[in-house]
Amino acid sequence: MFNANSKTDPARPSTWKKYKKGMCDGCWSGCCTLPVEASVNDLIRLGLASKDEAAMSLKPIAKRLIKDRIIQKFDAKSQLFVLAQRAGRDCIYLHEKTRLCTVYEKRPSVCRGFPTELGPKPGYCPERRK
Ligand code: SF4
Repeated sequence: MFNANSKTDPARPSTWKKYKKGMCDGCWSGCCTLPVEASVNDLIRLGLASKDEAAMSLKPIAKRLIKDRIIQKFDAKSQLFVLAQRAGRDCIYLHEKTRLCTVYEKRPSVCRGFPTELGPKPGYCPERRK
């Protein structure tokens, strides 16, 4: 949970720090408390949907994954899914103790591009020590 005394708040990009290489080492992973938008290709890579399913309507995939509490919502217009978050806003794939991604090699594209290319404030991140 966010500590009001810390200097960055993931929910307030105005408090974020300019990103520098190596900043992720020892970080609390505040970026993994932000809602993650995933495409159907991200879901296929994560093993959550098949290519055959993806070739048809995405709504049945969304219905199944919402029921399984893996995604929290699906936007039919953008065709994007939002990964579920645990209490405290952590991504369901963030390890509670190590604060490391448990699906790192298969993580969604938005996670790969953060914070340099993608995110609410490209080039900045909510870095904070563990
Ligand atoms: S999928 Fe991994 S990198 Fe992406 S927000 Fe979740 S824990 Fe973080």
